[in-house]
Order: sequence, then C-alpha cells, then structure tokens
Amino acid sequence: MEIKLVKNGIFPVTRTPDGHPLDRAADTGYAFPGTLQGEGKLVGIPVLFVRTSGCNLRCTWITETGKVSICDTPYASHYPLEVEVMDTSEVVAVIKANLDQIRHVIISGGEPTIQPQPLVELARGLKKSLNVHITVETNGVLFIPELVAHVDLFSISPKLKSSDPDTKKNRLLDHPVEQNYIRDHRKFRRNLDTLQKYINACMHKGSYYGDEPGSPPQRKSNKDFQLKFVITRKTDIDEIRQDFLDHLSFVAPEDVVLMPVGGTPELLRESMDMTARLAIQHGFRFTPRLQIDLFGDTAGT
Ligand code: SF4
Repeated sequence: MEIKLVKNGIFPVTRTPDGHPLDRAADTGYAFPGTLQGEGKLVGIPVLFVRTSGCNLRCTWITETGKVSICDTPYASHYPLEVEVMDTSEVVAVIKANLDQIRHVIISGGEPTIQPQPLVELARGLKKSLNVHITVETNGVLFIPELVAHVDLFSISPKLKSSDPDTKKNRLLDHPVEQNYIRDHRKFRRNLDTLQKYINACMHKGSYYGDEPGSPPQRKSNKDFQLKFVITRKTDIDEIRQDFLDHLSFVAPEDVVLMPVGGTPELLRESMDMTARLAIQHGFRFTPRLQIDLFGDTAGT
C-alpha cells in the first residue's frame, strides 16, 4: 500500500534497502544511520524517523517577544510541496537496512493519521518484520482503532489556542495561511473524545469500563502516551488544565509534557526558561528540543 512521505522522508539513513551506500550523506553529518529522539518521554533514545507528508492543521504561534513561529516541519504541513510516494513494504525495507543497534522507530509528520490505512499498514509491517518500538506522533485530532495494536507510544501534541492561525499572524508570514485552514484549525484542533480514546487504548479495559469496582486504573505495560503541549505564554497552563486535563481521565502529571515554542535555536532560547519554570511549578514534565540543539533547524535530523 502506498504512503505519502516528505522528500527523503525516512531518515537519517545511509544505505539502500539492499545495503549499498547511498550517494548522499545523512543530514546529521554522521557516516552512520540514526539520530536521537529530541522530544518527550524518549528524549535521547537512538531512533530512525519516517515523516509523512500533509497535515490537517496549520499551527502558527507568536512568541512573547512578538515573533511569529510556524510549525517546525513546514515542508510537511504548511507547504508540503515535495512529496515522495512509497510502498509501505519499501519503507520497512529501508528501515531494516539502516537499523543496526537502533530499536525505536518514530512515525511523524505532518500528521500521519490523515493517511489511516497506509499508516496502519506501515506500523503493522514494522512491528511484524522488525519488532521495533514504534512511536506515532500525532496532533490528536483523529483516532484510528486499528493502529493501536502496533504502536507502543502515542505521542500526542494537542494544540492550544495560541496555535490558531489568524489574519494578524498572517501579516508576519511570507506565505499566509489560507482562510479554510484558519477556520478548520479552530474547529478541529481540540478533540477531547479522540484524546480520551488514545489514553484508554493504553489502559486495561476493566480500569475504565468500571467492571472492576474499586480497582485503581492500570496502564498496560506495553502501551504509553504523552500529551505534549507547545508553550508560548504563562497562561497556557490554565488552558491546559481547564480545556484539557479537567476533562480527561487517567492522565498522570508525568504524562503532561511542556515543550518551549520555537523551530529555530533563537526562538527556542526565548521560551525555554519560562517553560522550564512552569514545568517545575506545576509538576509536569519539561522537554527540550534536542534535535535543534544538536543540528539546528535542519530537516532530516
Ligand atoms: S499539527 Fe503538527 S505538523 Fe501540523 S501544523 Fe501543527 S505542529 Fe505542524
């Protein structure tokens, strides 16, 4: 089954599926495949990425100092101009040839869930052929029940009001967000029903259907989730609590990950300190964006 990826959407790799060296270097600058997961619960773990093309949202933020910051992978979301269509079995073959000691594969985007069947096929193929740990990074707007069996970590990044594109932010962008995306972003970005389904997928059934009265909720040992929020201002914490956590069950503080806004080292520096303070004060998890510290805002790292 075919899946749409961004150009060079399996990364960082150095070999073809039959093990021959590629004619271009990995974007990390290393002579070997792989990088480190830069964000969230698995930060620092060696990984390979698959980045799908296209997104159903158009996140656009303004930093506290008034600078505009769009999604850190705009070539997969806002401007998905270069697309590579591959068979999911081919993707598995490339991963296999570049896996070496790596045991974790991240399927990211863009938004992977807008290609539901190809995404299920890819996750199933990776799990069945390679038995790797699979993370799916999603904005949490769509839920695909068939995906659950093949995924170990749902890295969900629900979007706050601060991510809404609007005409004021558009004035600061070279390529303004189209009106239909401005409307749809506001309408669809917060889907509590879907978020709870992802969370429930990580819990033993009895603990949330209530058929074991009095027993504490139990998380499955082989499934986990995180709710990763991009922080641009102090008041984001109130919105996270009131608009999200107050309506969701089974979320522990360490499942809530605060990540500073910024797709470039400069923007990131501005918001890092505020985000770290908020995480400490509220008992949530802080995540850096290690990939930006290590490689700057270079795609494919
Ligand atoms: S949902 Fe994610 S990929 Fe899509 S625009 Fe927002 S940050 Fe980018």
